Amino acid sequence: MEPILELKNINYSYHTLDGETKALSDISFTLEPGSFTAVVGPSGCGKSTLLSLIAGLMRPESGQILLAGKPLSDNHENIGYMLQHDHLFEWRTVYRNVLLGLEIRGKVDAASRRKANELLAQYGLKQFAASRPSELSGGMRQRAALIRTLILDPELLLLDEPFSALDYQTRLKVSDDIGQIIRNSGKTALLVTHDLSEAVSLSDRVIVLTRRPASIACVVPVSFHLENDTPLNRRNAPEFKTFFNKIWKELNQDD
Ligand code: ADP
Repeated sequence: MEPILELKNINYSYHTLDGETKALSDISFTLEPGSFTAVVGPSGCGKSTLLSLIAGLMRPESGQILLAGKPLSDNHENIGYMLQHDHLFEWRTVYRNVLLGLEIRGKVDAASRRKANELLAQYGLKQFAASRPSELSGGMRQRAALIRTLILDPELLLLDEPFSALDYQTRLKVSDDIGQIIRNSGKTALLVTHDLSEAVSLSDRVIVLTRRPASIACVVPVSFHLENDTPLNRRNAPEFKTFFNKIWKELNQDD
């Protein structure tokens, strides 16, 4: 099967008045359809830079990025985002927030309205459709943000520390919840996180980056033999610690 995303020898440097900061060095990897990959690395190593390049917000200095076999053009219709802040608009109802992306693209019709209602019902937000975001809990807000992304039917979901604004207890619950929704949707996901437990509990592969300029230190495949393979069950499984320690060791190799 053709990969959804292919990065080939990506390099990137920032140029400022103070000089050049090399952020990414020779990054290559592919994402297979339906896979869930996490990227971890030391703070300031270049994780956000990597996501910005994949999102097409910046262009690599050298190397190539292919989305479904084609070079990233200025049309990024097939990439969805979930960010640290949910960016829901307070003056819109939950329903109208969910429809926002389609509205911007001029694609709201009877079918998309039906789909919005279906997704809201499926993910337990039906009774909040007419509410304002401020009436929702942190977890429900993230669900609404995810529905707004999924309704655009993106080929690839980019998740940039989507749970880090939540307190610890909520974060566990919401990452479990959102992780399962993404799995069930069959979407390909790329999660950037500084939280190793989150990476191990959600993904099937963890890409570990070195210090800046980031290159790939190693790729750790993550698989659990669980009857019910949910993020929460993973956290309680004996293998969890093994994966965590392996990634931790890779991350702290230079210390
Ligand atoms: P991470 O997401 O891993 O914390 P970033 O990708 O944000 O790291 O940044 C990587 C490096 O690039 C950092 O050391 C940062 O100082 C530098 N950097 C990021 N953005 C800019 C910018 N706009 N101009 C100059 N340097 C930048």
